[in-house]
Amino acid sequence: MKIDISKGILAHNDALAEENRLLFKQYGVFVVDLMASPGAGKTSTILATIAALRDRYRIAVIEGDIASRVDAERISAHGIPAVQINTGGACHLESAMIRRAVEALDLDEVDLLIIENVGNLVCPTDFDLGEHAKVMILSVPEGDDKPLKYPGIFAISEAVILNKCDTMSVFDFDRDAFDAVVKGLNPAAPIFPISATKGEGIDAWTEWLTARIEAMRSAG
Ligand code: MG
Ligand code: ZN
Repeated sequence: MKIDISKGILAHNDALAEENRLLFKQYGVFVVDLMASPGAGKTSTILATIAALRDRYRIAVIEGDIASRVDAERISAHGIPAVQINTGGACHLESAMIRRAVEALDLDEVDLLIIENVGNLVCPTDFDLGEHAKVMILSVPEGDDKPLKYPGIFAISEAVILNKCDTMSVFDFDRDAFDAVVKGLNPAAPIFPISATKGEGIDAWTEWLTARIEAMRSAG
């Protein structure tokens, strides 16, 4: 007899994700799961997103890392509630971890919850956290071939942020080739070229996010 362990883990995760989804609905919180490689600029993109949207929405952040509190500290320094999850080795977040983390937040005071997943282009794709949208970031220095090598994360993301666009000429990044492969994997996903640390391109990304939040709110 062969027992498929990964299937059992995923089914358990999905059941808890459904509970998270009900909780977020009850409090009217829009949740985005931000996925990327280590060093792609997830935390910088979150900080730029906070700067653009903090007058409109009450924002909170859950930071997923194998170890350390440095990212949560970067976020809290801006006066935004941030909960750090240390996975102690696991290379992705699971819905049970999110459930524990939200217990440290006052969801009544949150409109937008941004989850920064552990840096990894592979398994965060498989784990539903109860979020409304999974969004990924690729940074230009990682190369334009990444959608060919990691098609799953590009196929599942509702939007693709391309960060560090100010370095495009240095890294000889072929934007047309990149866009063509992403469009092939995921025709509906918009691609947002940004430079998070320079604040460039943030408007288009936050307008898309705002439209998604407002659509959830008007749907009740
Ligand atoms: Mg980070
Ligand atoms: Zn993993």
